[in-house]
Amino acid sequence: MTYDLVIKHGQLITASESFVADVAISGERIIAIDADLTGQREIDARGLYVLPGAIDGHVHLTDPTYPPYAIPTADSFATGSLAAACGGVTTLIDFAQPVPGQSLLEALDHRQEDADGHTVIDYSLHLNLRDPDPARLAEIPAIFARGLPSFKFFMAYEGYRLPDIALFRAMEAVAAQEGLAIVHAENFDIIQELRRRFVLEGKTGPRWHVPACPSVMEGEAVHRALALAQLAGVRTLIYHISCAEGVRELRLAKARGQAAFGETCPQYLLLTDEVYERDDLYAQALMISPPLRDTSHQAALWQGLTDGTLDIVSTDHNPRHQQTNPPAHPAGTASIETRLALLYTFGVKTGRLSLNRWVELCCTRPAHLFGLTCKGHLAPHYDADIVLFDPTKEVTF
Ligand code: MN
Ligand code: MN
Repeated sequence: MTYDLVIKHGQLITASESFVADVAISGERIIAIDADLTGQREIDARGLYVLPGAIDGHVHLTDPTYPPYAIPTADSFATGSLAAACGGVTTLIDFAQPVPGQSLLEALDHRQEDADGHTVIDYSLHLNLRDPDPARLAEIPAIFARGLPSFKFFMAYEGYRLPDIALFRAMEAVAAQEGLAIVHAENFDIIQELRRRFVLEGKTGPRWHVPACPSVMEGEAVHRALALAQLAGVRTLIYHISCAEGVRELRLAKARGQAAFGETCPQYLLLTDEVYERDDLYAQALMISPPLRDTSHQAALWQGLTDGTLDIVSTDHNPRHQQTNPPAHPAGTASIETRLALLYTFGVKTGRLSLNRWVELCCTRPAHLFGLTCKGHLAPHYDADIVLFDPTKEVTF
């Protein structure tokens, strides 16, 4: 049998195996994995790793220009997805963000219009519920009926945050649909109080970002989110865990048998709060939330990745055009193109991650968590979303 395309002699890496084989593709699916396959087109992948396409489950492209954060993003669906493809990402997941008072379906339609025909790879959306009005909860089943299995909730930031009662009710509504609740877990009341005090004392600028967002309060928020999730009975993913306390709370939730999952991002694994000492535009651009932290937190994150506490690495890709001083909204990291290579260089090459764990974190677990049943693995019937990764190539960026 002759296939449309055969990738020959590559080293296949899945979440559990590594072996040399040919991969045969017809149409958009993998048809066979075996030796000596022939295709109308053939690609020689000798010396290359053949991976399932990476999935980035946390990106912000063409941020909706809704108040209060009407800040233009640097990447559109077109440019961001192109960068993703160049970095081995074959599926990205962005957000539909209805404003309070807006129907969820209307916002979803609007966001799909932004993306359809512009992304060069597959995409999906998480629905970000920002409206605490209980009336919105009645619309949640209609979002699931459209095929979106995940809702994002903020515990922090004006215009985004849900109070605990609204978060709990929303988690119950998502649980009823057997969906996934995703949480940005920080304690905004305490962040606001600490910022207010610092401003009164003249302590402004990047170096005060970390003391205003202490790790102990991120740990408190992760604990609270997971406690509410346990009560609501909902599968829950905590986004961008940045600190040892967050990893600890996730580990405890898993130990009690809860369907609790955690994400961290390259910026937390590779940069530290030392950058804030620079007090310049570079430091301002890295005033992300949660903040970059010190090397002890970084070590806890790597430990969480190696021992299975943390489940996925995605990017929170959110590059913004340069802002006024101080930035209206802290944001600014960009690794949609570099995540896979960064995790290879600083995870696999340093011996902290196996090749299989690397694939699991970037490709396979995201597919499982986000319900992408035909993605994240190399086997017949799966989507032919495939990366050829050259482990010897050196790039400077
Ligand atoms: Mn966030
Ligand atoms: Mn984000």
